[in-house]
Amino acid sequence: MENMIQVRNLVKKYKKASEAAVNDISFNVREGEFFAFLGPNGAGKSTTISILTTTLSMTSGNISIAGFDLEREANKVRSNIGIIFQNPSLDVELTAEENIRLHVSIYGTYKFRPFYQMMPIAYKQRIEELAEMVGLKENLFKEIKTFSGGMKRKLEIIRGLMHNPKILFLDEPTQGLDAASRHSLWEYLNRIRIEENITIFLTTHYLEEAESADRICVINKGKITMMGTPEQIKSELMTEKYMVIDANDKKSLKDELSTLGATFIETVQGIKVVYQDPTPQYLLSGLTTPLTKLNIYQPTLEKAYLDLVKEGDEL
Ligand code: ADP
Repeated sequence: MENMIQVRNLVKKYKKASEAAVNDISFNVREGEFFAFLGPNGAGKSTTISILTTTLSMTSGNISIAGFDLEREANKVRSNIGIIFQNPSLDVELTAEENIRLHVSIYGTYKFRPFYQMMPIAYKQRIEELAEMVGLKENLFKEIKTFSGGMKRKLEIIRGLMHNPKILFLDEPTQGLDAASRHSLWEYLNRIRIEENITIFLTTHYLEEAESADRICVINKGKITMMGTPEQIKSELMTEKYMVIDANDKKSLKDELSTLGATFIETVQGIKVVYQDPTPQYLLSGLTTPLTKLNIYQPTLEKAYLDLVKEGDEL
């Protein structure tokens, strides 16, 4: 199967809302792909992921997940997906393993047994394998009231993967975690992705988190504004590369720039020269006029993304 997720003309308009929260979006996610849905708060990410995971109805559109129609075959869709949502719904009075046991029996993956020892071998193997993968093996039989935020998130990952789903949906999975826990969670998620050949659909408003995705889809105000590999997104976002130079002999400098075919304007700070290459080296090496000033500006991806999101606000 080529597309694990296929979304066509998805629209969601909440009751009483004047505008659609998701306004006619279409995209595909390939098998094994790590797909990041990136956008600021209120962009429509949660709405989309809730529809894709069958917890919210759509206003119109066509969606297929793992080859099943979302509306007609919702149960088949559910059995093929794992979900990790923002707000953990774990029972703190239970141990990590008891939380998982309860979950799999509610979802019908395994029958409930009052003791771990009585659970089928397949269950024990799967939970231990996953606990090992996310680094929670030592704590599997401990009550989770002592767990840190990062450990709870890892437990949710185990829970989301117990039934061997083909697709894992992660809704802002590192929300509220510190930098170290975020980093370690991503290490484990990448490992799982490779070992389980799982398709990942991630929503985030952190650009840095989307950077290791295969493809990024930027959403703002319910519309897709950009889609491509992180490299493509970067080159599209980072158009404004320039340097500001100056010289005592301004005229000679400007003549040289014209000869080189450079695009430049005079500003109060000096002469602003736009360059296309990754570095302005090719321009600088062509200049012989002694410079009194040289400042190179290369916006970071984060800055470029924030600018883009801000632009959307002004529309
Ligand atoms: P994100 O997850 O990107 O922050 P959401 O999907 O939560 O964005 O929200 C998209 C838009 O839909 C926002 O304008 C939000 O206010 C609105 N919205 C979200 N949930 C509801 C709801 N239950 N009822 C009405 N409007 C909603």
